[in-house]
Amino acid sequence: MVICLDFDGTVVDHCFPDIGAPVPGAIEWLKRFRKAGAKIILFTMRSDGGQFGSVLTAAVDYLEKNGIDLYGVNANPDQPDWSSSPKPYAHLYIDDAAVGCPLIHPENFIRPCVDWETIGKMVNDKFNI
Ligand SMILES: [Mg+2]
Repeated sequence: MVICLDFDGTVVDHCFPDIGAPVPGAIEWLKRFRKAGAKIILFTMRSDGGQFGSVLTAAVDYLEKNGIDLYGVNANPDQPDWSSSPKPYAHLYIDDAAVGCPLIHPENFIRPCVDWETIGKMVNDKFNI
């Protein structure tokens, strides 16, 4: 299974260009997904080299330091062999801005973020993670 994963509002609170507080449960569930064999693609608007500096690298480093190794960054590595589309192929897209994504608003968070307790159960029920 391949999962495309947004960053701001999904893994951390919205504090762009900084890295916000960890979204409750995000890293724990992502580790469970990885342990079950899921491949994680970071799918984010963050980029390096613009006015904000290396904000994409900061997100990649954050995930790796928290034990989440990535299959790809804004791309599915296998995809160029069979598609020229810029949208990375995945079975799931987890993004706080997705319609219907369950959200919570922890105290002191700037904006609502992904409700990983609900997302984790949804993914577990559907894919038996
Ligand atoms: Mg987001």
